[in-house]
Amino acid sequence: MKTVGIIGGGQLGMMLAEEIHRLGGKAICLDPNSKCPASYVCEATIVSAYDDLEGLKRLGQQTDVLTYEFENVPATQLQYLMESFYIPQGIQPLFDSQNRIREKKNAIKYGLIPAPFKIIYSKEDLEQGTLELGFPCIYKTTTLGYDGHGQIMLRQKEDLDLVNPYLKGEGILEAFIDFDFETSIIMVRSKTQIISFPMTINKHRNGILDLCIAGEQKEIFKKIEQASKDFMEKANYEGILTIEFFVKGNCFYFNEMAPRPHNSGHYTIEGCSTNQYRELAKFLLDLPLEKPKLLYPTIMKNILGYDVPNVDHIDTSDSIHLHMYHKEKIAPYRKMGHITFTNLTLKDYQNKYEKLFCEERYE
Ligand code: ATP
Ligand code: MG
Repeated sequence: MKTVGIIGGGQLGMMLAEEIHRLGGKAICLDPNSKCPASYVCEATIVSAYDDLEGLKRLGQQTDVLTYEFENVPATQLQYLMESFYIPQGIQPLFDSQNRIREKKNAIKYGLIPAPFKIIYSKEDLEQGTLELGFPCIYKTTTLGYDGHGQIMLRQKEDLDLVNPYLKGEGILEAFIDFDFETSIIMVRSKTQIISFPMTINKHRNGILDLCIAGEQKEIFKKIEQASKDFMEKANYEGILTIEFFVKGNCFYFNEMAPRPHNSGHYTIEGCSTNQYRELAKFLLDLPLEKPKLLYPTIMKNILGYDVPNVDHIDTSDSIHLHMYHKEKIAPYRKMGHITFTNLTLKDYQNKYEKLFCEERYE
C-alpha cells in the first residue's frame, strides 16, 4: 500500500492520516513542530520548516504521493516539488489561493462573482476605494490571512488610519456584504468523477468559524453547487477544493477557496455516509470516489482555547462526538478541537448547549 506525504501536521493532516490508515495506507507528515497534531497518528514526522527544500525533499523521497494541508508553502518550493515528486492535486490550486487578488481574478475568470473589491497600494488608493465601495468595507492583506488575521473593518473615514501599518504591502479593499448567511461547499474531483458534500450554514464569531450547521435545505444551494462544480472543472483542478460564499437574497458571492480539507467539513466525519478526509484519501490512493449523503441534521462546534474548560460540561455519547487536537499550547482564539452533535437541530443546540460555550467564561 502507498505512503502519503502530508505537508503540514495540523488537525487537518491528523484527520486525513486517520482516513488514510482506514484505507490501508500509511502517512508521513512534515511540520516544524515534532509534537504537531498529525504526529500522533502518522508513521513518522519530518521536523522541518515549510520552506526548507531539504525537509521537503526527504518527505518526497520517503513517500509515494504528496499532498498539503498547510497553504503557504512558497512558490519556488512548490515548483521544485512538482517537478520532482508525484502531487496528483498539482500546485496550481494552492498557488491560485495564496494571494487574494489572484484568487478573486481566477474566480471571476471561471464564472464566480466575488464581493466588489479594489486593489490597494497606497493611502490614495484607500481613499478612492472607500469612495467607490462606501462604508462599511474591509481591508484585507493579500497573503497569509487566516481566522480573520490581517483584516480591518472600516466603518467611517476616521478608521482609515488603522490601515497605515499595512500600507507597505499589497492589500485589497472589499465591500462589506450584509449577508443572510455564509456557506461553503467541499468538492473532490478525480480524472473521472466529481463529488460534493452537503452544504452547511457557517456562523463565525470574531472572524473565526464557530458553528457549522448541516441539514437545512436552501433553494440556492443547488445553484451554488452547480456553479462551484463548473468552476472546478473549468479551472481544471483535481483533488479537494472548498469554496466559501456569502449569500444575500438570490445572490451568492465567492469569498475564498482552499485546496485542502476544510474546517466546515469536520461535520462530515459523523454526519455523512463518507467524509472529506476519506474522499481525499481515496483520491490520493487512486481509489474510486463515493457520493456522500447526509445521515442526520448535524452541528459542528469549534472548540477554541477559551472553550476548553467548558468541554468538561459535555458528556460524549452516541450523538456527541468530541475531537481534541492534542495541541500543547492553549491560546484563547486557537482551534483546540471540535464537537460534532449528530441528530440535533440548531434550535435544540441553542436550547441545550449554547450557554456552555461563551467567551466570558474564560477569564
Ligand atoms: P479563514 O481562513 O478562517 O476562512 P480568513 O482570515 O481567510 O478566514 P475571510 O474568510 O476572508 O478570512 O473572512 C473571515 C470572515 O470575516 C468571513 O467568514 C466573514 O464572516 C467575515 N467577512 C470577510 N469578508 C467579508 C465581507 N466582504 N463582508 C462581510 N463579512 C466578511
Ligand atoms: Mg474564510
